[in-house]
Amino acid sequence: ERFDLKDKIVLVAGASSGIGAATVERLLAEGARVIAAARRMDRLQALAKDRPGHCLPLQLDVADPDSTSSMVERMPEGWRNIHGAVVCAGHDVGGRARFDQADAETWANIIETNVNGTIRVCRAVIDRMTARGTGHIVTLGSVSGLITYPGGSIYSASKHAVRAFTDGLRKDYGDSDIRVTEILPGLTRTEFAESRWGDGSKAEAFYDKAPGLLEPEDIASAILYAMTAPESVNVSQIVVHPTRV
Ligand code: NDP
Repeated sequence: ERFDLKDKIVLVAGASSGIGAATVERLLAEGARVIAAARRMDRLQALAKDRPGHCLPLQLDVADPDSTSSMVERMPEGWRNIHGAVVCAGHDVGGRARFDQADAETWANIIETNVNGTIRVCRAVIDRMTARGTGHIVTLGSVSGLITYPGGSIYSASKHAVRAFTDGLRKDYGDSDIRVTEILPGLTRTEFAESRWGDGSKAEAFYDKAPGLLEPEDIASAILYAMTAPESVNVSQIVVHPTRV
């Protein structure tokens, strides 16, 4: 039987654009109550507008341990019984460069956000899930977590780490009804490319050159597929490529 998300509380970390924002829309359409978290509050407020009780904007910087550890207590009482967490917060800002051309701050920030940030968000929500014995964590890896390419050593390392962490987490909670899923998207049209280069025209040129491109909604569909599978089914990994590669 399809898992019903109606009235379930789901946190989306990294909800202010791209895959996270598309996932918020799909979850709301399923009747879930969604906590939309990220750093850009103006974006989250626009997303939550006219949806009181259904969508709660929450300030969150996953690279900041205090922001993440205080996350649940900063939620209003009625929003803390979290069923699911979708961790979309991630970036590759300044990372597309040969190893010696990226500075220490850049690579530390990629690891801090993509790896430690994902781990921290999971830590912040897991107690509620273990107390109930049920829940669902979804992380965003990448096809870069399966391969490597020139100029991508740090980002790729971060996504390999997300893959290992997610699979380990699934095994840790294998004696309960807590499900753990990793989504591994291929190239998807979001703000990711623009932030990677800090330049919209470079991102457009990059997308123009790509033989095929996914839309954020395609990845949101994969996330919803995993989250609505029968509770006895753990869809552990979904790899999504554009048809034309
Ligand atoms: P976007 O740049 O559109 O979205 C990234 C999201 O992460 C934003 O909501 C941003 O919000 C949030 N974020 C970044 N840093 C932090 C932080 N420190 N704290 C909280 N939130 C943060 O890109 P995508 O939607 O494409 O990216 C989502 C995930 O998908 C990432 O993990 C990315 O690595 C992965 N992915 C993307 C692919 C692609 O081709 N686009 C391919 C494979 C994987 P804010 O800035 O407001 O904090």
